[in-house]
Amino acid sequence: MTAVSANASGLREVAVLGAPGSIGASALDVIARHPGRLRASVLAAGSNVDALLALCAAHRPAHAVISDENRFVALRDGLRAAGLDTQAHAGGRALDELVSGDACESVVAAIVGAAGLSSTLAAARAGKRLLLANKESLVLAGELLVAAAHAANAEIVPVDSEHNAVFQCLRSRQTQGDVRRIVLTASGGPFRGRKRDALADITPAQAVAHPKWSMGPKISVDSATLMNKGLEVIEAHHLFGLPGRQIDVLVHPQSLVHALVEFIDGSTLAQLGLPDMRTALAVGLGWPERIESGVAGLDLLAQGKLEFEPPDLEAFPCLRLARQAMDAGGTAPAVLNAANEEAVSAFLQGRIGFLAIPALVEDALAALPATPAISLDALLAADAQARSFAHQRIASPALHA
Ligand code: NAD
Ligand code: MG
Repeated sequence: MTAVSANASGLREVAVLGAPGSIGASALDVIARHPGRLRASVLAAGSNVDALLALCAAHRPAHAVISDENRFVALRDGLRAAGLDTQAHAGGRALDELVSGDACESVVAAIVGAAGLSSTLAAARAGKRLLLANKESLVLAGELLVAAAHAANAEIVPVDSEHNAVFQCLRSRQTQGDVRRIVLTASGGPFRGRKRDALADITPAQAVAHPKWSMGPKISVDSATLMNKGLEVIEAHHLFGLPGRQIDVLVHPQSLVHALVEFIDGSTLAQLGLPDMRTALAVGLGWPERIESGVAGLDLLAQGKLEFEPPDLEAFPCLRLARQAMDAGGTAPAVLNAANEEAVSAFLQGRIGFLAIPALVEDALAALPATPAISLDALLAADAQARSFAHQRIASPALHA
């Protein structure tokens, strides 16, 4: 394991990718609590220049990047007008270069979707500490990403809450063989307890209203379909090198136990905490030291009960589909992820119903059988094929019948 260096002034410089998003805001909140120790040196956003400018005014990074190249002039002029000496950049390549260069030691990878793969890979290849929230990049290209991080001695600290919990619990392990299984918990989402036929008329507003976590729209829908947990099983498989049969899922509606690790001697360690992503981000930003996150401790007496139940795979088939894709291997997880991204986007736009999300993913997996994932190009080609398959299905009347 590598220790993350700080620059000569003792400040650790951090790039926050997806800065205006939910994880970005939590990361910047923790960073701002440690002005002598942490600095947001690079802020990156997709296309929302106004949000990025506001964050630049608050955090005064050295660099700001907008992925949408058409927004470059607005960013540059906005920075000037605000009297900031933050340098403006645009486009994916500029982002990859900044992430790889001297402007940061740590990278918070919190872009949503496969759009985050390139910058996440760039950070891994450059040996940065990678605070990995962008689970889709692991689902799409897990082997490549983990191998790139390993080759460059880049430390991945997962900031997905369950994986961050496993990361913490695994500190008391000597070898891989010490672990019998890990258990990822799931809140069950806003529709826990409903049967399949009570899900047909779900609206986007209902689906994004998560009972426990406040998150961006895509992951909120994924939580409602249980695809989020499916993506997380694949994420755990890559991060911790465990086969699917050693990764279990338990529904835990209170979202206070984030994951459990069972060892071969019968011990089970769990990590608990309030459902607030700043804890996981503080672990990533400070590790191996513990730093303040702004999150209160857990008062179990006030919280009352901790409940657990099995996931309902009949009502929420996405978890089963994700396991199926993981077992098929090769390009199948890339197809699963891309079809899901397109289906969720169409659902959020009101173009397809809630139950069409798993239907579309299932059809894409059947129509595009797994081939070996020999290269990044092969994975990106599978991603593109699945998106074009999804576009056709979304436009077809059969999906809406
Ligand atoms: P969000 O929708 O709130 O934010 C996404 C961010 O990505 C936005 O800032 C947007 O500007 C940026 N973005 C989108 N496309 C981009 C592009 N091409 N280039 C640069 N930036 C781009 O989403 P979120 O909830 O913060 O989730 C971000 C990631 O973290 C997702 O992969 C999600 O699965 C993961 N995650 C989130 C949470 C959570 O609590 N929100 C928890 C675990 C994991
Ligand atoms: Mg999670």
